[in-house]
Amino acid sequence: MSAPQFTGKTNVKYTIECIGCGIQYPPNSLSCSQDGGLLRTQYASRHLHLHDLPGMGKFLDWLPVSAIIHTQAGPMTYKSTALARELGLTNLYIGFNGYWPEQGAHILTCSFKELEAHPTLQQMQESGHTKLVLASAGNTARAFAHAVGEYDIELYIVVPGSGLQKMWLPQEPTDNIHLISMGANCDYSDAIKLADNIAAMPGIVPEGGARNVARRDGMGTVMLDAAVTMGRMPDHYFQAIGSGTGGIAAWEASLRLRADGRFGKTLPRLHLMQNLPFAPMLSAWHQGRREIVEEVDMPQPKRLIDRMYADVLSNRHPPYSMPGGVYDALTDTNGGVYGISRSEAEQAKALFEDVEGIDIVAPAAVGVAGLVKAVENGTVKKDGLILLNITGGGVDRLKEDYSLYSIQPEFRFDSPDVNIEHLLQ
Ligand SMILES: *Cc1c(COP(=O)(O)O)cnc(C)c1O
Repeated sequence: MSAPQFTGKTNVKYTIECIGCGIQYPPNSLSCSQDGGLLRTQYASRHLHLHDLPGMGKFLDWLPVSAIIHTQAGPMTYKSTALARELGLTNLYIGFNGYWPEQGAHILTCSFKELEAHPTLQQMQESGHTKLVLASAGNTARAFAHAVGEYDIELYIVVPGSGLQKMWLPQEPTDNIHLISMGANCDYSDAIKLADNIAAMPGIVPEGGARNVARRDGMGTVMLDAAVTMGRMPDHYFQAIGSGTGGIAAWEASLRLRADGRFGKTLPRLHLMQNLPFAPMLSAWHQGRREIVEEVDMPQPKRLIDRMYADVLSNRHPPYSMPGGVYDALTDTNGGVYGISRSEAEQAKALFEDVEGIDIVAPAAVGVAGLVKAVENGTVKKDGLILLNITGGGVDRLKEDYSLYSIQPEFRFDSPDVNIEHLLQ
């Protein structure tokens, strides 16, 4: 049987196609019906032309949206002196994704998840969708809740009970945010299940996670900003991962930069950090496997996740195996995966905050620990051009300037199998 070829009106700015087989899909599609591969955006403009806008709107040419994105939030790259000196590095750049106004960083929800939220919501609105559902244990929910204030979209967020305390915003929550909390005995998988049930209702769309090109291209602006700041692509990219979506995004951005021609020919090596003891991709990658085998790579997941330092980095179904996923990204960039312990992350957090002078979130500390390890092992040269993605930070700094509002749940459920019809009235 031949594949259904998309024959609708194609957007002149970009098309979306399967990485595995090249079939084209309409905007908003989430995966290839033939091989399950990730879809990727192909932009009409091969050269990155920067728009004179604050925040991530600068990179509009390579975001899958038509209208301008108006937000102060955007990636910010600076050359490190203090941490660089500490580690003996001469070309260390930091991509700081959080709040640090003195350095020009204005992500008010303090993580790079916000770089996914703006283009995703803009893209949804342009496609005529008005209701969006997502499950999140924290940073993604906060990012979307903050960004959705600018859009005519009703946002349904399902959080596990433990995620409620992370549901703050730097402004009063708008009426289009609908927070649904699961009981204390429910975990993230229950939240995902309920979100799936809600997504099956007519008129509601799921945000799609790693499969959504708007999310990945939004995160990819970290690499774009770094290349523009450094004048070329870095040799190395360091990031803590849970799903690895940010790693895929960095790889895809570097493929575009390579095709542009002005930013170098060699793709940055991906150095991706998982937080022990829950590290399924680390386990599979070190055994040379494209497939994650649950019994081998993540036995007793609940117990392992409970022992993590940065539980935001737990993801039981990462986009690792499929065409265009983390395995392919690592292979294509000659990359590697590291396991980081609690004490390594704690030490790295203290070191970073002490020398760079800004607070960072736990997952970002896992990323710093990976860089420390790579330097110790001689994996990177002292003068190598390095990009360290600080995926979140500045929460303490934000509290000096803003009062935080907590989002109140509209509903509480103790099981994902509840009648949800009345929810959407
Ligand atoms: C989500 C998140 C990560 C992990 O990102 P992925 O690339 O999606 O695995 C790292 N740090 C922070 C702060 C996050 O919120």
